[in-house]
Amino acid sequence: RTTALSDAPYVPSPEESDAIARMKELLGPKGWIDNPADMEGNLIEDRGIYHGRAQLVAKPATTEEVSGVLKLCNEAGIPVVPQGGNTSLCGGSVPFEEGNEIVLSLSRMNKVRSIDPLNFTMTVEAGCVLQTLQEEAAKADRYFPLSLAAEGSCMIGGNLGTNAGGTNVLRYGNARELTLGIEVVLPDGRIWNGLGSLRKDNTGYDLKHLFIGSEGTLGVITATVLKLFPKPRDIRTAFCAIRDVDAALELLQRARAESGDSVETFELIPRLVIDLVLKHMPDCEDPLETRYDMYTLIELVTTRDNDDGIEERFEGILGQAMEDGLILDAALAQNEHQRQELWKLRENASESQKIEGASIKHDVSVPVASVPTFYAAAAEAVHKVDPEARIVAFGHMGDGNLHYNVQEPEGGDTKAFVGNWDAYNRAVHDVVVSFGGSISAEHGIGRLKREELAHYKDPVALDLMRTLKAAIDPKGIMNPGKVI
Ligand code: FAD
Repeated sequence: RTTALSDAPYVPSPEESDAIARMKELLGPKGWIDNPADMEGNLIEDRGIYHGRAQLVAKPATTEEVSGVLKLCNEAGIPVVPQGGNTSLCGGSVPFEEGNEIVLSLSRMNKVRSIDPLNFTMTVEAGCVLQTLQEEAAKADRYFPLSLAAEGSCMIGGNLGTNAGGTNVLRYGNARELTLGIEVVLPDGRIWNGLGSLRKDNTGYDLKHLFIGSEGTLGVITATVLKLFPKPRDIRTAFCAIRDVDAALELLQRARAESGDSVETFELIPRLVIDLVLKHMPDCEDPLETRYDMYTLIELVTTRDNDDGIEERFEGILGQAMEDGLILDAALAQNEHQRQELWKLRENASESQKIEGASIKHDVSVPVASVPTFYAAAAEAVHKVDPEARIVAFGHMGDGNLHYNVQEPEGGDTKAFVGNWDAYNRAVHDVVVSFGGSISAEHGIGRLKREELAHYKDPVALDLMRTLKAAIDPKGIMNPGKVI
């Protein structure tokens, strides 16, 4: 599913041309680009599915500049696509093909405004790269737990825009739960300073939650107050071959209960993922000598200094699970280097799949206890579409979120596979919904899943979403055509 670019240049109205000229003046020479070659990286997504055009990429450096840009766009009716690291992969962060939109990149708004270790908070601008924030928190002997494979390039504004999850949701919650306050520029240019750092504030509607996960359709998040946590002092990591997905569920609940709920990560990884990673990533190795069908990557943390007991607890849980036949074999990281080697198997899953060929991705969630039955039911539904389709279903089992990806058959006909795009979506999503699950647990809806949302979302909820959109963005300039 690629989109073709029209050759016809977009012809702006005199009002639009005037607004763009004033925008350039407001932003100064470092604050915008409009040369198509220079804008290219802002117009296309990593997977190349969507490739749009824009009148301009605006790069404001301050909240006031964002406000000025939105005011001009609102008056002239120019649609705005907010953009962070452009890693969300569902078409929400890039413009459509017409060329009438502007991209508003937050990349220059990358200051950590303050860190308050006593309050366990940090106040940061939307363009801060996630990994930088983890590092800044660590320097203050604190921990910012949001973690995902794109953390070296995604930005916190985009993380909030998509309500990102990642590998530590089980213990700390997703971006929504890590946010105490936000600063937002509304479509008409008004600035809402909601940068409170309170743990308790019951003064009416909690407006920040409207903007978190709204994928740039209601306003531009320019800054946020994030929750910090005590820094983990020790972390234990194991890559375990397990009997099956049922065994994974049993292991997860035992590990949570027996560790004082200190399981930080619990990832499910089928053998096909390991095979693809080993095939396409020459510096990755299988830590186990024998091949098994299913694995988990599990981590336990302690925030206590010199907590010698963690090793005993971890090995006790794994040892008992081995005796009971849940775990068949395991590799335990003895140091940080070995830990990173184990993580590479998980973090290279998406990239290896991309190199292998076409895949149709479903980022779904079901109640954690339903993961094993969902896993089997979804496989059956997918194989009804094509028995040769390869199922690459892996991910954050600890919070019920799986990347349920369907990979083209080995040596198969890519065109025929992609031709079944809608059939695969229907197969997987129908099963997800039958388990009370969500068709989008991460990444968002963007453009890719808009029709799926319209198909599956409760009509009353959709109606409320449209009402809110119309109230906050009456001219419809914020990321139109995305989400709803
Ligand atoms: P972008 O892609 O730039 O934008 C995402 C959406 O938010 C767009 O609709 C955009 O308009 C809007 N937006 C961006 N900035 C703002 C702002 N300041 N104000 C308002 N709206 C804004 N996601 C997960 O949740 N968990 C994972 O485990 C995970 N793993 C990934 C692994 C890989 C290899 C890759 C490539 C992606 C992964 N993602 C994952 C998806 C992606 O990294 C997240 O969705 C991330 O939060 C997007 O951040 P971004 O800065 O790239 O946002």
